[in-house]
Amino acid sequence: MGQSGIDAWGARTVTTSRPTLAVWKFSSCDGCQLTLLDCEDEILGLSEAIDIAYFLEAGHDRVDQMYDVSLVEGSITTAHDAERIREVRAASRKLVTIGACATSGGIQALRNSADVQEFTSIVYAHPEFIKTLETSTGIADHVPVDLELRGCPISRTQLLEAISALLAGRTPRLPSYSVCQECKQAGNACVLVASGTPCLGPVTQAGCHSLCPSIGRGCFGCFGPSESANTAALTEQLRRVGTNDRDIERSFSTFNVNAPEFRTAALALYPIQSPRRGSE
Ligand code: SF4
Ligand code: SF4
Ligand code: SF4
Repeated sequence: MGQSGIDAWGARTVTTSRPTLAVWKFSSCDGCQLTLLDCEDEILGLSEAIDIAYFLEAGHDRVDQMYDVSLVEGSITTAHDAERIREVRAASRKLVTIGACATSGGIQALRNSADVQEFTSIVYAHPEFIKTLETSTGIADHVPVDLELRGCPISRTQLLEAISALLAGRTPRLPSYSVCQECKQAGNACVLVASGTPCLGPVTQAGCHSLCPSIGRGCFGCFGPSESANTAALTEQLRRVGTNDRDIERSFSTFNVNAPEFRTAALALYPIQSPRRGSE
C-alpha cells in the first residue's frame, strides 16, 4: 500500500509503506475539506498513520497511479466533472463521499427542478461562457461509492472514525437513526413540541450531536434523510404546529433537495416546481 516511485522525469520521488489518502474537489464550497484541516489535535497522528498524497487545499499535489482512500467533496455539475469522477474512481481503492454536495447533489441541485438557463442568464453577465449540466447530482449517481459521510459540512468525529475504520479494515460506526435520538440523549427540550418551531430532526440522519436543537433552533436536515424517514408524518405534524405548506416544502428543499425522500416530500406539496416561488 502507498507505494510510489520516480517518474519518467525523475521528479517527486516518494517511498512510503503507509496507506495513501487523496482529497478531491468537485462542485462545492471546500467546507467539508476544511473539516479535515480542522482536525488539529488529530492531524499529526493521522499523518503518521497515512500518507496524505493529494490534497490541494493543504498543498499536497503528488499524483500517484492509485490511492488507498479517496475523499470526494462536491457534486457533478459539468461534463468535465462527470468524466473526471470516473478517473478518480479508477485511481481509488476505497472512495468515500463527504458532505451533502457529494452525497446528494447539494444545494446547487435546486436547479434540478428549474431552468438552469434561466439561472445562468440572471447570475452571469455572459451566460454563453457557462458550460454546465442541467442537473447537479451526487457522486453515487455516476460511480460506485464505498462509504458516504453526510452533513453540510461533515462531522470531524465521523471523518476520523471513517478513516480509522478504513485503515483498520473494519466497518465504520455511523448512525442510521434520526437526529431526534441524539437530541433526546442530549436532554434537550423539543423545540417542535415546546414552541412549534419547525424541525426536520425526526427524518434527518444523526451525526451532528443534535447541534441545532441544542441551541434552540430546528434542524434544517443537512445530514439528509435517516433510514425509514417518515416525511409524510412529519409534514402532518408541521402543519399541526402551524407551518404552511410553502415553508414545509422549502424546509425539504435545501442542502439535500435531491435526496429522494426529501424530494418526494417536497413534490407532494408542490408537484410542479418551476419556476421557483421566490416572490410568493
Ligand atoms: S456539503 Fe456543505 S460544506 Fe460541504 S462542500 Fe457542500 S456546501 Fe460546502
Ligand atoms: S427538537 Fe427536533 S430533533 Fe429534537 S426531539 Fe424535537 S423534533 Fe426531534
Ligand atoms: S441539527 Fe440538523 S441542520 Fe443542524 S447540524 Fe444537525 S443535521 Fe444539520
